[in-house]
Amino acid sequence: MTTTKYIFVTGGVTSSLGKGIIAASLAKLLQAQGYRTTIQKLDPYINVDPGTLNPYEHGECYVTDDGAETDLDLGHYERFLNVPTSQSNNVTTGRIYQSVIEKERRGEFLGKTVQVIPHITDEIKHRVQILGQTGDYDIVITEIGGTVGDIESLPYVEAVRQLKWELGENNAIVIHLTLVPYLSAAGELKTKPTQHSVKTLMESGVMADVLVCRTEHELPRDVREKLAKFCNVRPEAVIQSIDASTIYDVPNLMLDEGLDKVVLGKLALNSSQPDLTQWNQFLSRHKNPSGEVTIGLIGKYVELQDSYKSILEAFIHAGAENEVKVKVESIHSEYLTESNAAEKLKHLHGVLVAPGFGERGIEGKIEAVQYVREHNIPFLGICLGMQMAVIEYARNVLGLKDANSTEMDEATPNPVIDLMESQKTITHKGGTMRLGAWDCELIDDTIAKDVYQTKTIKERHRHRYEFNNKYKQQIEEAGMKATGFNPETGLVEIIEIPAHPWFIGVQYHPEYKSTVANPHPLFVSFVKAALNFKTNNNSVSMAQN
Ligand code: GLN
Repeated sequence: MTTTKYIFVTGGVTSSLGKGIIAASLAKLLQAQGYRTTIQKLDPYINVDPGTLNPYEHGECYVTDDGAETDLDLGHYERFLNVPTSQSNNVTTGRIYQSVIEKERRGEFLGKTVQVIPHITDEIKHRVQILGQTGDYDIVITEIGGTVGDIESLPYVEAVRQLKWELGENNAIVIHLTLVPYLSAAGELKTKPTQHSVKTLMESGVMADVLVCRTEHELPRDVREKLAKFCNVRPEAVIQSIDASTIYDVPNLMLDEGLDKVVLGKLALNSSQPDLTQWNQFLSRHKNPSGEVTIGLIGKYVELQDSYKSILEAFIHAGAENEVKVKVESIHSEYLTESNAAEKLKHLHGVLVAPGFGERGIEGKIEAVQYVREHNIPFLGICLGMQMAVIEYARNVLGLKDANSTEMDEATPNPVIDLMESQKTITHKGGTMRLGAWDCELIDDTIAKDVYQTKTIKERHRHRYEFNNKYKQQIEEAGMKATGFNPETGLVEIIEIPAHPWFIGVQYHPEYKSTVANPHPLFVSFVKAALNFKTNNNSVSMAQN
């Protein structure tokens, strides 16, 4: 096949309908029929990337191998497809404008007036086609963030209109995701919001080819027919997307509805039965666990599900791999103190101290580390969580009571976590951290080596501060070992406590690389350690009875 086909996914009626999951599920079905598929997200906000956004605003910032700070939907794309994404898979209005303005400053528009149409829309069209032009993909799915009718979405919808026209029939289609609400007082499903949203799309010259209707109740035939008739789509192109108990059910739900068939038909491509064997094996393990472990997630954004999205999903993958349910108990680090640590942590089978930035909640994280270290509870520290483990060890084992990270206390006499020289002069905020995939070499006879079963690994980073090698010897002599290093810089990437059953802190983010097809080995091993801890503890308490 020579031409790449394009599928645009737009959203109507309201946000949060799950465009990312629908896009990822469709991509999964296409991939499982042999089509090389990727997904891209266009975000209509003016930030150049979500790297500077607070998790309260936009959930987790996902990081790709090439160091792009991206929307969390890219995490879903990777988890579903098991194919890495890159900077090209996430573009914001800020980035579009930045490139157009830079071109203007370089004089590339030859004195012309620079305008939204055609210059901004041309840049959007260019960004949409970058992935297709690599020759790596048969199908590119582009998810347009926001809701049609929003002022900021207009240039994107216009770019879609032009592209549909330029690429021609059978080469580009639009899937419109809408809501069909159920009014319980009337006992009815209502199609009017969908009709209006399709009309809004048509006012911009874009016809939806497929409607995916989010609904809490089954869509009866007459409702589907009504939607088809009033929205100019074929009845078989009205797809129901009913609430699911897990996002991992959605590919099968879409398969039952024939979304893949309709889409491939409109793109003039052959359809076949997708091979979902591995996917369904995962689902069956996920849904039929033979036990349960409870893991504490210590963070400061715990009230927001989206802030630790990749960590929660990595636990789902690792739980299925171990055939147990991982119950994640969120514990707010700001309210964790020496006096309540035991009460909040003693029933847990494992503790994960989460990544983060800034001072808020760090003392609670340090308390949590001390408790699990002293009580032999399996521990995984990620990024800031690893840094907290080093600080706790320095304070309570080495006796350096004022040990800290210079992120929290610039003047600390014992900066066990410190800024790298190259970071010291930076004042610009965006994209200035150690980002993306870096090599790490593992020491033999360590948990790390046992987990990864290989000498060199590549994991993704997103941080400014580092383990301070000036304290390495002192810390190692006291019993905490550095077990993974960056081979070029000598930076410590992993720490462990060999005297503890399972205590490991990693400077990188393993959660970004966990997928359904490839559950992350560190999470798999952590859940296993939690399971062992639970089993051993139960036998201890039974022996004591
Ligand atoms: N705030 C810490 C740093 O910048 C850790 C970052 C993180 O947890 N992602 O080094």
